[in-house]
Amino acid sequence: MKLGILKGNGIGPEIVEAARYVVDACGLGIEWVDIPIAEAAVKLYGHPVPQESIKMLRDIKIALKGPISVEKKQGRVTCIHDDGTEHTYPSFNNAIRRELNLFVCMRPSIGIPGISGDHQEMDVVIMRELTEGVYSAIEHRIGNVAAECVKLVTREATERLSRYAFEYARKYNRKKVTCIHKANAISITDGFFLECFQDIAREYSDIESDDYFVDASTYYLLKKPKMFDVVVTTNQYGDILSDLCAGLVGSLGLGAGANIGLDGAVFEAAHGSAPDIAGKGIANPTSLIFSAALMLRHIGEDESAVKIEKCTRSILSRREYLTPDLGGNTSTMGFADAVAKEIQKYQ
Ligand code: NAD
Repeated sequence: MKLGILKGNGIGPEIVEAARYVVDACGLGIEWVDIPIAEAAVKLYGHPVPQESIKMLRDIKIALKGPISVEKKQGRVTCIHDDGTEHTYPSFNNAIRRELNLFVCMRPSIGIPGISGDHQEMDVVIMRELTEGVYSAIEHRIGNVAAECVKLVTREATERLSRYAFEYARKYNRKKVTCIHKANAISITDGFFLECFQDIAREYSDIESDDYFVDASTYYLLKKPKMFDVVVTTNQYGDILSDLCAGLVGSLGLGAGANIGLDGAVFEAAHGSAPDIAGKGIANPTSLIFSAALMLRHIGEDESAVKIEKCTRSILSRREYLTPDLGGNTSTMGFADAVAKEIQKYQ
């Protein structure tokens, strides 16, 4: 079995190595194929998101990815296709997702006994729209006077996201799908997002659905997290809410993610490249270990996915091997090693 690996930068290479070590402990005999991205791709192909890497990703279909830094005010990148067409994206990460047409970003936040305090019972899966919203890169400056950005919402993208969320709810026996929006203040675009969601909700009468404003939702997630089950939301709100949810269950270093399309998927943490701790060997690799488990479930290796999730949660709950973000002094690879040993003992 061949799977792609994109190391990224910052803490990317450290947590990718740790997650790969844990997956390899399951003994699936995976052949990992390195796909150059960011600085590594610039060195080889002269572009941070080269078509050579995009083609490798299209061929291999499934990959595990480390985070990539995006410079403030300089994130935009243009990809030039073989047929001469080009597309500008707001960041390298956005370019990878959209070149592959990955349309939903699924980010589960599940409380962990001994780690998550008041949010131990939290079990929320955010389904973030991944192709449009304010991350469409349709923005420009008007000299030194102003700047404007188009918030794109299409029926096609909103319906396919909503349908994905309801199908997911059915498959995993989830009770409710909630749409999070700001349709009071942004009544036309967020109003349309809500309308498209409600149209799909009517097709799934077996699953409860409701909606909340995004501002109130941050409060409810903090105070009454059990109000939420599966969440459907726009690109930007999903970006922000998933970091919040990871923090609520204990650390950004616990936030896993899956970017899914019809013909491939890239699995990456909810967080960024954490330059403040990069190179120190102290990043929490749980985010990418859980992302790798989502990847294994996606390709039908459910048994290994369950093994990784159970062993990682058990190591965390026992609080013997915690990285500094959770109050311990275990290293990134020290944590991965503890999980790998637990996997070897797993019956
Ligand atoms: P960040 O998510 O990298 O870090 C925020 C805070 O969380 C930092 O204090 C960091 O040390 C901590 N943190 C994050 N991951 C951790 C982990 N695994 N273990 C322990 N602590 C962890 O956010 P930022 O600092 O705002 O962004 C850094 C860079 O990452 C920026 O260039 C940004 O554009 C980029 N970014 C990339 C992605 C991606 O690749 N998908 C996503 C978000 C941000």
